[in-house]
Amino acid sequence: MPFSNLGLHPALVRATAELGYQRPTPIQNDAIPPAVEGRDLLACAATGSGKTAAFLLPILHRLNGRERGATRALILAPTRELAAQIHENLEALAKHTRITSAVIFGGVGMRPQEEAFRRRVDVLVATPGRLLDHLQHPYATLADVEILVLDEADRMLDMGFLPDIRRVLRHVPERRQTLLLSATMPAPILELARDLLDDPVTINLEPRATPASGIRQAVYPVPGELKPHLLLELLRRGEVGSAIVFTRTKHRANRLAELLDREGISAARIHGNRSQAQRTEALAGFKKGRYRILVATDIAQRGIDVEALEHVVNFDVPAVPEDYVHRVGRTGRAEATGEALTFVSPEEEGDLRAIERAIGRRLPRVTVPEFDYDRRPTERFEIPIAERIAAIRARKAEERARAQAKAERKAQREAEELARRQAKAERRQATASPAVRGESAHGNGPGGVDARRNGRGGNGRRRRRRRGGGGSHAPARG
Ligand code: AMP
Repeated sequence: MPFSNLGLHPALVRATAELGYQRPTPIQNDAIPPAVEGRDLLACAATGSGKTAAFLLPILHRLNGRERGATRALILAPTRELAAQIHENLEALAKHTRITSAVIFGGVGMRPQEEAFRRRVDVLVATPGRLLDHLQHPYATLADVEILVLDEADRMLDMGFLPDIRRVLRHVPERRQTLLLSATMPAPILELARDLLDDPVTINLEPRATPASGIRQAVYPVPGELKPHLLLELLRRGEVGSAIVFTRTKHRANRLAELLDREGISAARIHGNRSQAQRTEALAGFKKGRYRILVATDIAQRGIDVEALEHVVNFDVPAVPEDYVHRVGRTGRAEATGEALTFVSPEEEGDLRAIERAIGRRLPRVTVPEFDYDRRPTERFEIPIAERIAAIRARKAEERARAQAKAERKAQREAEELARRQAKAERRQATASPAVRGESAHGNGPGGVDARRNGRGGNGRRRRRRRGGGGSHAPARG
């Protein structure tokens, strides 16, 4: 069924065509008609399924042509990246309408966001924490919200946002349409759905344990310490082009990005210790092709939408099977195809088996021909935490010692300078003593007032010099 059959406004159908969407994805087919009618929705939807447009299109359809000047829709998302992504998609889909929107998340200034509240934009996309910060101020109101979306609800729960969500809900009218989307449907989500939704249409509630179709998945067994070498080898051979590479920890993400950079492969990083500006730059740079590799910890695994991504590399096996499905959801979007490579060290076999159980099949194992699996790396990839702490302590101790030595040198210089000045002052006093004595004893002594009056002061000297100057010129002229 084409988009034009879903009962959407032509301005929206036009936008989907311009985005290259040829036909609705299954979730869009199922969700759009009831949501357009104003029904509540409970949908099990993973990234990559087209879920964002599935809730954005009905919102835009319902708000199109409505009077301006009130925020009528609120979309809550767990992470800044996802919120930004949803907003970007919203702007593209609303291109031929007059619907206004803004995105609200932490890590950036409050003022432009405050302006968006004051302008009463039609749709707000927000992370819960920063939204609550704004809601403490009188300029922020959600009293006109008619449509509420909770996207990636399971993720929000995992991140401990449930109390924040409940606080936000106190600001939103009870009479509203609510759409709840979640990649998984654990008991707390179903409970939340019972609380929030009124006779919802449920979509695809079978837990979606298989990644989007069109993805080739493979497992690369490799000793843990050779993982960086295997990745470099696949990059060198061109078997991995542009890719998101997921690591288990921030330290491993940093080490890997540094290593790739050293090897001449442009890489950016996204993880929890990076500022919002750094994350935005990394993602934008990766999308534009400035970086071939984006190394990320799982904070980045949802909500990054990179068109035509060829590869996802699980540098480390995700500990939770759902995370595997989400990561692999990065690639093979809607119509695209992609490849998901998972590096597995012997210690990670157990986690891999859990993933295989969850997706209901055994993933093919790949041995890379002519890769030396027995080599001994010369450099350790990961520095154990105890060693890192010891190194930080040693560096700090060294910095302190340096600062102390510097302070001591400065104190010594100052003491020497003081001594020099004192000595100088004493010398001056010693040479000046007779004059001072003379002046005080005789009043108009040789160095005193009379000396200047007698032409032995400044003026007298100047006159003599002028006369002397004239004389020295005379022979040259003659
Ligand atoms: P998500 O909404 O996170 O599941 O992302 C789905 C990805 O597929 C995004 O890149 C969308 O732009 C794209 N997409 C969404 N709907 C369609 C569609 N009907 N046809 C083709 N691509 C789509």
